[in-house]
Amino acid sequence: MRKNNFIKLFKLASLLFVFNVFNLPVKSSSALAAWALKSDGVLELKTKSDAKLKAYFQKANKSYGDRFWIDFKGELSNPRTIKGNGPIKEIRLGKPVQGLTRLVIEFESNKKINPHNWKLIGIDKNNWRIKLAAFPKNDFQTISEGNFSSSNNLKKRSDYFVNLKNNIALANLPNVKKNKFYVVIDPGHGGPDSGAIGIGGLRETDVVLDVSKIVTNILNKKGVKVKMTRTNEIDLDLGPRVSMANNTKADIFVSIHANASVGKKRNINGLETFYYSGWKGRLLAEKIQKQIIKVSPGSPDRGVRRGSYFVIKQTNMPAVLVEIGFVTGKLDGSRLSKDMHRERVAYAIARGILEYLERIG
Ligand SMILES: [Zn+2]
Repeated sequence: MRKNNFIKLFKLASLLFVFNVFNLPVKSSSALAAWALKSDGVLELKTKSDAKLKAYFQKANKSYGDRFWIDFKGELSNPRTIKGNGPIKEIRLGKPVQGLTRLVIEFESNKKINPHNWKLIGIDKNNWRIKLAAFPKNDFQTISEGNFSSSNNLKKRSDYFVNLKNNIALANLPNVKKNKFYVVIDPGHGGPDSGAIGIGGLRETDVVLDVSKIVTNILNKKGVKVKMTRTNEIDLDLGPRVSMANNTKADIFVSIHANASVGKKRNINGLETFYYSGWKGRLLAEKIQKQIIKVSPGSPDRGVRRGSYFVIKQTNMPAVLVEIGFVTGKLDGSRLSKDMHRERVAYAIARGILEYLERIG
């Protein structure tokens, strides 16, 4: 649940701001694969895996307006300049020295840019984002090159039942009336908010999205309608998660998270489920907790607890927040990195939900 702090990005060196970039725990070099400067002032980048980027800002001088640039390893075959619009004078892709690619965004000379709060954020191994400026509406038209379509670095497990089929009998799950129930599954965090970071760079956002997708798939197969608050790595505020459930009159809301201990203590492991109020919320929490503990032998049962997390407090229906283990824990972390365990946990959560729905009728 603990939010990972974004890495703050720059040091001041006279007029030149150098950004410390969030390097993912990977090695080798990479090059720019695609980029887009969008009308809302967000620059999106797609790189090869393992990229190490360096970002810079320089105030205007006699020859140039304010400039922001990023260096990537690897060379371009065709250095080029793209004419800008609105506040952007031009965008250049160049080869400042051998073995380097430089993407330069130059602002019009009358634009005063303040880069102090800029953060270049690694969304995953291939994708980066930085908000450059709040462009007024219709002030700037998106400029982009390259294809982001396969940019989602998440594992694409299109058939989540490849393994489940062999190991889990769906038929053993409780049966509920088809198309009667509607469940909102909320994978915690997302996008630049990676949530907890655990052993070997294991990210809460990835683990919980994967588990949530499998839960969704299982419930669908059992005739339960499910909506996920997010299905990919986007930055979704808590408000919209709640309103998705409230506005669509969901029967229950289940937020899925993984934990982290302060100081990343490897000996802290365990699972817990929170509810905010009401016997239904408590019952749902108990049903889920009982099942997830079963598939996590040796990991402490931290129990069902009351918690006043925003998403379970503000939702109108029985709502729980499940912590499926500590990504920082030796036992939990190594398990949560494995597909098979994620599937078992997802199956356990789905079973808990189905038992609750069966009971509530
Ligand atoms: Zn979390």
